[in-house]
Amino acid sequence: MKIGIIRCQATEDYCPGTTDFKTMKLRKGSFAELPAHEDLELVGFVSCGGCPGKKAVLRARELVRRGAQCIAFASCIQNGNPLGFPCPQAQQLMDAVRRGIGTDIKFLNYTHS
Ligand code: SF4
Repeated sequence: MKIGIIRCQATEDYCPGTTDFKTMKLRKGSFAELPAHEDLELVGFVSCGGCPGKKAVLRARELVRRGAQCIAFASCIQNGNPLGFPCPQAQQLMDAVRRGIGTDIKFLNYTHS
C-alpha cells in the first residue's frame, strides 16, 4: 500500500519526521491497522502548508495523484507531538482533506503515540 503523510508545518523546526518513518517501517502505531500482507511504500511526506492548513487538501490530492492509497495525518496534527500542542484546526483540517479527496482513500488520524 502506498502511503502519503501530511504533517504540521509549524512543527517542522522541532521534528524532521524520524519517528513517523521508523513507526511505518516497523508497522507500529496506526500503521498496524493496515493489511499485514501489503508492503508499505512512502510516496510523499508533506506539510499542511502552514496555518490555517487549507493547503493540506491540495497537497493530499497531489499525494493521491502520485499513487497514495492511504493518507496518514502525522501525530503532530491531532496529538500535538512532540510539543503537546495540537493543531487548533485539526478536526477541520482532516475533515476538509477527507471531503477533498473522496472515499476510496484510507485515512490514519495519527502516526505514532
Ligand atoms: S494549520 Fe495546524 S497543522 Fe497546519 S501549521 Fe497550523 S497548527 Fe500546524
